[in-house]
Amino acid sequence: MDVFEANNYPGGKLHAFTLGGYRFDAGPSLFTMPELVSELFELFGEQPDNHFQYHRKETVCNYFWEDGVRFVVSANREVFVKEAAARFGVEESALTAYLRRSQKKYELTAPVFLEKSLHKIGTYFSKETLNALAQISQMDIGANLNAHNEKAIGEPHLVQLFNRYATYNGSSPYRTPGIMSMIPHLELHLGTYFPRGGMHSITKSLFELALRQGIRFHFGQNVRQILVKNRRATGIKTADEQHFADTVVSNMDIFSTYKKLLPEQPHPERTLRQERSSSAVIFYWGIRGQFPQLDLHNILFSADYRQEFMHLFNHKTLFDDPTVYLNITSKETPGDAPQGCENWFVMINAPGDYGQDWQALVARARQNILDKINRLLGINLAALIEAEDVLTPPLIEQRTSSYRGALYGAASNSRFAAFLRHPNFSNKIKHLYCCGGSVHPGGGIPLCLLSAKITADLITSKA
Ligand SMILES: Cc1cc2nc3c(=O)[nH]c(=O)nc-3n(C[C@H](O)[C@H](O)[C@H](O)COP(=O)(O)OP(=O)(O)OC[C@H]3O[C@@H](n4cnc5c(N)ncnc54)[C@H](O)[C@@H]3O)c2cc1C
Repeated sequence: MDVFEANNYPGGKLHAFTLGGYRFDAGPSLFTMPELVSELFELFGEQPDNHFQYHRKETVCNYFWEDGVRFVVSANREVFVKEAAARFGVEESALTAYLRRSQKKYELTAPVFLEKSLHKIGTYFSKETLNALAQISQMDIGANLNAHNEKAIGEPHLVQLFNRYATYNGSSPYRTPGIMSMIPHLELHLGTYFPRGGMHSITKSLFELALRQGIRFHFGQNVRQILVKNRRATGIKTADEQHFADTVVSNMDIFSTYKKLLPEQPHPERTLRQERSSSAVIFYWGIRGQFPQLDLHNILFSADYRQEFMHLFNHKTLFDDPTVYLNITSKETPGDAPQGCENWFVMINAPGDYGQDWQALVARARQNILDKINRLLGINLAALIEAEDVLTPPLIEQRTSSYRGALYGAASNSRFAAFLRHPNFSNKIKHLYCCGGSVHPGGGIPLCLLSAKITADLITSKA
């Protein structure tokens, strides 16, 4: 098996770099469902612990609001319910009911929507699908996530906290359906994890596993075309040569796969026209100092969440009071920063690249972020930054071919988004398959791994 990769390194968005003595994970920072990584080692008869280790986080996230409220979300569901009820004056029973419903939604939908191809007729006649359909009223598909959270919880800080889960697939809580309230189940019940060596060890360990299995990697090889003969994929073409194969799998963003690699083939226009997910602006800051009030994951919320999403999705620009996400891996791995220092990955949600003036937007965002951090943490951060790099939507597209720099392919801003995602195979070109974050079942590391699993099952069931 041969992998052709445009970059000189494996991993795409799941990459890392060092800068002035600081190590940074470049993209993903939140890790859930580690068993999907471990399973790959088991599949080849290897002991996962020998190659990939991780630990469960006791603290899910530290939250900060502009009105001075602070709240630490515990990974223990009962502790979370007790502490949140006491802090925000809501009934414990309301929170318990919300989380139970979240779990139910996840358990009903995961076997149907996440673990199988939605585009094979057999999926619709399975026991799991019939069970899910019988309980469709429990799924909260009718309202948007914010409306669902306002009705179920009401308290504004907690509504905002639970609205944030819409961003886990790059969507707006004011438009994505209430079924997304299943995502907290992943964090608050199944847990969040930190891989030893940082997120990049997911890439490194899987790359080494692939090498041990004899897979050949061709780095710096930009695929220019998928070869098609008689409506069947026969290989790929790079700048230098053609490579023929029985099966072709594209892990490139589905929009770019069609537009760049299959320009003469019929395109699924409705799928490709879907609204893209949000992108991000990230500052990687090496900070001279340590901050005990922060943990691995921290959120400093915007005072006007609705306006923030209006700016991102309607006006396609940044909001001056953004929600700021701080990820600090040196909290878990002190060696990621020099002694007495911390490596801050500082991210705000951003619209996709529609040709905005990113230089001006980034300069303004930098000041807004510094002002917000200084206000909420009572510090003077600019004076402590001793190393700096920045990632923008155009750079994300340039480095990974993700159309408009979207983090998760298409957004889930409609009730039908799951059905409009491209299947894991082409129904027009035989022997052509698609995996990764822009096709079924969606973006984010766990779903990308599930997409690979569904694709592999489809290929082997054909063989
Ligand atoms: C800043 C950021 C933060 C994120 N945070 C999280 C998080 O906390 N948790 C989480 O689970 N997910 C997160 N995500 C999303 C997650 O990173 C993606 O869903 C996932 O990594 C996508 O994997 P992929 O393989 O589909 O795409 P990519 O990682 O983009 O890989 C595509 C690969 O294809 C290569 N390629 C493209 N075109 C060609 C071509 N023509 N020829 C050869 N090679 C080509 C690219 O070079 C790249 O290596 C984040 C993403 C970003 C950018």
